[in-house]
Amino acid sequence: MTAQEDTSHERLKNHFAQRVTHQARQILDIWQRLQTQEWSPSRLAEFSEANLRLLRFAQRFDQPEHTELAQATHAVLQQVADNRGRLNSPLISDLNRLMQRLSRTSLRHGDPLAQVALPPLRKPIYILVQDLERAKRLSTQLEFFELSAVVFDSPTRFRMAMADRHPAAIVIEVDFAGPGQGLALAAQAQAGLEQKLPLLFFSQHETDTPTRLAAVRAGGQAFLTGTLEVSSLLEKLEVLTCVAHYEPYKVLIIDDSRAQALHTERLLNTAGIITRTLTDPIQTMAELADFQPDLIILDMYMPTCTGTELAKVIRHNDRYVSVPIIYLSAEDDMDKQLDAMSEGGDDFLTKPIKPHHLITTVRNRAVRARHLKARMIRDSLTGLYNHTHILQLLEDCSFHARRENRPLSFAMLDLDHFKRVNDSYGHPMGDRVIKSLALYLKQRLRKTDFIGRYGGEEFAIVMPDTDQESAYSVLDQIRERFCEIHYPAHPTDLWCSFSVGVVQLHGDSDSLKMASQADEALYLAKKNGRNQVQRFNQQG
Ligand code: GH3
Ligand code: MG
Ligand code: MG
Repeated sequence: MTAQEDTSHERLKNHFAQRVTHQARQILDIWQRLQTQEWSPSRLAEFSEANLRLLRFAQRFDQPEHTELAQATHAVLQQVADNRGRLNSPLISDLNRLMQRLSRTSLRHGDPLAQVALPPLRKPIYILVQDLERAKRLSTQLEFFELSAVVFDSPTRFRMAMADRHPAAIVIEVDFAGPGQGLALAAQAQAGLEQKLPLLFFSQHETDTPTRLAAVRAGGQAFLTGTLEVSSLLEKLEVLTCVAHYEPYKVLIIDDSRAQALHTERLLNTAGIITRTLTDPIQTMAELADFQPDLIILDMYMPTCTGTELAKVIRHNDRYVSVPIIYLSAEDDMDKQLDAMSEGGDDFLTKPIKPHHLITTVRNRAVRARHLKARMIRDSLTGLYNHTHILQLLEDCSFHARRENRPLSFAMLDLDHFKRVNDSYGHPMGDRVIKSLALYLKQRLRKTDFIGRYGGEEFAIVMPDTDQESAYSVLDQIRERFCEIHYPAHPTDLWCSFSVGVVQLHGDSDSLKMASQADEALYLAKKNGRNQVQRFNQQG
């Protein structure tokens, strides 16, 4: 095959891949509408038809991953049909898992950047910046994050490259090759494309509104000003490519009447909400820990205890202070309702309730609770989990690991001589290093690992299904590569190393013990000269 035939074959394949992607998007769109609407026989029919179309395209255009997903989806939809067209919790979970996989594969074909985290991008990022030295530095730094970049010094070279191969993204200075020329060049490059490329504009100076407007019109999705740091660039790339995932809401229903609970479950399931019922209130705390619901629906009167008593018990645990509690009861005495609300409840719904009223109340409460939680568990500088939450995750994971007899590792990481960094380069530069390490860890670790900012310049990592040796080698590689990153600074470039202590869950150990063991190993790493990973010695 000649080189030319090779590219035209590539193009044809790309074209077909786009048809499949387009169809996959339609299916995802139907699924996403379940966030605001309700399930119905016509929705099922629409879903099934769209899925069969995807299956046909995927088979015809030889896309095995999509074929497999469409077949699996078809099987689940068949089960829905067999269930008289109704969704239930297991079916919602199954469909959601498939839809999440579908959204990942689709984005891989359509918007390559969506997978910027892992696996690494196969396509490069095109960089067009006036200062060639700066561009080259940026390109080298991006390589540390597994991204390849191509630097251009002229519009002609860029156009030739575009004709040959589309990049994962374009980073272009507004004034590249002359005032405003970068804008024009980017607009031109985007003009002929069916699928627009992620485009980031950059300007050394603050710009005026007309320039910003022109950037928006040229298809720019982000605008960076200043020195164009690799960390802020990566952050933008991450935002641009973030997939809005639909995680179905989870509701725990506590009601001694199974019939009543079943009725509530049915209603919520039609809204794509996953439910679980508990008829024995004594099991509440265990169930909360296991299910982690977004919201709780409580019956007011049960034989073992009242709803308000139970709400108090739930609220006594710090972890559940913000989970909304909705009372659902036949009680129509307004005073009693108000009393119940003052005892840790958030809402009071009286039976019989209109289905739509119940669904809307649950959705509104759950949305806000999730937003609130996301803010409560995150560290604001890095977006990683905060101290409290990473320890909670370690506790959850150690519980699961012990129950399922699977390995679990925990690591504590601390930047070396960080006080000196602050002293020599200033606190803002220190912050930048902390942010950059956070990003680096996110890029390098698996999606299933949990990363937290443990304290100032300390990080904690929970690694499920990982033994100490694997954890050690992953972290040691990250350590080695991270200290090769040089941040441009005055008077000299800055680089930073870190030390790590790692431990595996053993025997009758628990999360608290693991945390102190990791700390001990970290102390050893510091004592032995820093810039190293130390394992905790179980015999020690
Ligand atoms: P060691 O190698 O022993 O860890 O030395 P160190 O200097 O890193 O350790 P030490 O714990 O004595 O000092 C940590 C320093 O980290 C103190 C503080 O100035 C800095 N630091 C902590 N949090 C932040 C932060 O959020 N931003 C910045 N820029 N610096 C921070
Ligand atoms: Mg420290
Ligand atoms: Mg330190």
